[in-house]
Amino acid sequence: MGLIDRYGDRLPIGLETPRLTLGEGSTPLIHAAVVSERTGVDVWLKFEGANPTGSFKDRGMVVAVAKALEAGAAGVVCGSTGNTASSCAAYAARAGIEAVIVHPAGAVASSKLMQARATGARAVAIEGNFSDALREAFDLADREGYVQVNSTNPYRLEGQKTAAFELIEELGAAPDVLLLPYGGGGNTTAYGKGFVEAGVGMPRFHPVQSAERATTFASAIRITAPVHAAEVEAVLARSGGEILTVADEALLEAWRLLARGEGLFCEPASAAGIAALLAGAASPGERAVCIVTGHGLKDPDAVARLDQVAVEALAGAR
Ligand SMILES: *Cc1c(COP(=O)(O)O)cnc(C)c1O
Repeated sequence: MGLIDRYGDRLPIGLETPRLTLGEGSTPLIHAAVVSERTGVDVWLKFEGANPTGSFKDRGMVVAVAKALEAGAAGVVCGSTGNTASSCAAYAARAGIEAVIVHPAGAVASSKLMQARATGARAVAIEGNFSDALREAFDLADREGYVQVNSTNPYRLEGQKTAAFELIEELGAAPDVLLLPYGGGGNTTAYGKGFVEAGVGMPRFHPVQSAERATTFASAIRITAPVHAAEVEAVLARSGGEILTVADEALLEAWRLLARGEGLFCEPASAAGIAALLAGAASPGERAVCIVTGHGLKDPDAVARLDQVAVEALAGAR
């Protein structure tokens, strides 16, 4: 069952809204035995890489595209570091409308662009960073009368909040601590909304960013200026917790541990919560959920770095 059917009564969905779905949501919650053992924390992984296009973006995109379709839009447009583009393209294809994706030239993982191209999106590469791509996407939306489906589209966050509902159903309560990568902050904002609406209390929130925001190898969070910074602060004021910053080295270590220790292959950005846990973000005995935001196959080129670490570790062991 897709999210519109599963949570339609808690979403801005009416009788006129198309029941769009690719089977998104209902992702696995997996116990992390190795990370739990190492930290003393009861650690759970919400594997959002199991969504249809391989990232949590599908949760928000299904609602945003369904609402665009309901409004009679001829197309949708987004600026993207990659996963928003893959998701936007797939749901637009499903809905039978046009998709235009604007991305910084050379800064998007190849698989993500391939997904968007395969599902028929028009890709526009621009010189500049993510913020420039976003600006261009807004301009394009104005010029062509397309609906923009970045996280500033409120339906995106509405759809993404459903992950909090799933966690509460799976654990029987809110966890003590929630950790997730902090790129633009849309997902943090959406979880905040979800826990508030569920009315079962808030976990302590730890959005985790790379110390190298502008240049990190974790391209999904290579965002210099988070669009949702003020909303993230509002969530933290309510939930407790704070933004944590991890070096790319620590991100790489955590990514490696997830893959080789837990058998869960995610893209680099998705290991941010684990990196923070390894640095002591939660206390022994607490229950923590890490949102593992995207699938490892999203960024195959990054895997060379895993082997680099392995070779260095081997050299050190000898
Ligand atoms: C989009 C994305 C993020 C960042 O989420 P924000 O809502 O921008 O903070 C993290 N990881 C992956 C895999 C993503 O696709």
